[in-house]
Amino acid sequence: MSSEALTIAVSKGRIFKDALPLLAHAGIEPVDDPATSRKLILDTNQERVKLVIIRATDVPTYVQYGAADLGIAGKDVLLEHGGAGLYEPLDLKIARCRLMVAGRPGGVEPGRRLRIATKYVQSARRHYAAQGRQVEIIKLYGSMELAPLVDLADLIVDLVDTGNTLKANGLVPLEHIADISSRLVVNKAAMKMKHSAIGRFVDRLAEAVAQAD
Ligand code: AMP
Repeated sequence: MSSEALTIAVSKGRIFKDALPLLAHAGIEPVDDPATSRKLILDTNQERVKLVIIRATDVPTYVQYGAADLGIAGKDVLLEHGGAGLYEPLDLKIARCRLMVAGRPGGVEPGRRLRIATKYVQSARRHYAAQGRQVEIIKLYGSMELAPLVDLADLIVDLVDTGNTLKANGLVPLEHIADISSRLVVNKAAMKMKHSAIGRFVDRLAEAVAQAD
């Protein structure tokens, strides 16, 4: 890698875990053990490459403002953020799942104005706008599956992987909104200023993705 310094923001949790082998293929390995370290900025085996491990929803913001040159975040989070100031050059094909509408079996009465509980307000709004349906969207920050059970909402919009969480709560998937996976994002100014280092990094990550697929 060249002498250009790179800061990479990665969503903590499952995305970070799944991204580690891809980063290793691109020649980047954290020096501190991320499982036990409380450091927010992790040094890597490459002196000029740092990782910041942060909440998924904050990754596009750090990259948009240039606090990180690159980021790894779920498409769900990128759809909510809107993508201002970001390039999205690579689908990393990790942490794959689907963004879906779910609810009680049997669906809902037609014609009624629906209440939709979700963390994914923008995606839900776009989905129903495309159908020409007026809905009321209730923003939640977690445990969306609870909302239909206590009549807070008719339906939820949430990520579904195995479907076990829905099933355990007596809910069923009803409509597919989008296939989700983690993406590499790049700050637009950094792409120009650090073109060679970022270009090489993107190429090696792309190779790692192709091998893993
Ligand atoms: P599952 O029970 O396997 O369908 O997983 C559903 C639960 O895991 C929901 O609470 C989702 O919000 C969460 N989930 C599933 N896949 C992902 C993912 N790729 N990224 C973040 N959260 C996920």
